[in-house]
Amino acid sequence: MFKEMKVQMSEQPDVLSSKPLRITRIHDMTFRHSYGKIDKFFKGFAQGKLLATKCNDCNKVFVPPRADCPYCMADLTESWVELPKECELHTFSVLHFAGPTFFKDLPFILGLAKWPGVDTYLMARIREVKPEDVKIGMKLVVRFAEPHRRTFTVLDFWYEPAEKLTER
Ligand SMILES: [Zn+2]
Repeated sequence: MFKEMKVQMSEQPDVLSSKPLRITRIHDMTFRHSYGKIDKFFKGFAQGKLLATKCNDCNKVFVPPRADCPYCMADLTESWVELPKECELHTFSVLHFAGPTFFKDLPFILGLAKWPGVDTYLMARIREVKPEDVKIGMKLVVRFAEPHRRTFTVLDFWYEPAEKLTER
């Protein structure tokens, strides 16, 4: 770590002339995430499944999944349903700015998809389509990352236009 700091400082010969004093430091951190009660959702990506939780008392379906029903507080951790791959675009946004990790992908599209009988919307990237060709109400399909690209995060799935897939 000290060695990295020395390199950084040598690359900033004018650091003392900056007002206010500005320095650059490299932060290298490891995060450990626990998905707790909804880890089945993330494990599902590796099985090519998009899973939601369902409250059988309220007949409500939630995706992203909720561990507890917000209406009756029932425990939903053992009440999962698999959603079909086909869904519909509810709304979308074309991003021209994002966090540094995604600079290389800009511009990209984030879409909120909906399923019949599901009470929430699910956000994911929309790929394989130009921003100008995205239309609210278009049919989408869910696609999953190949095993060597899996991150066990929400980046492991995305939407693609359903029509384009049938043309392949
Ligand atoms: Zn409920």
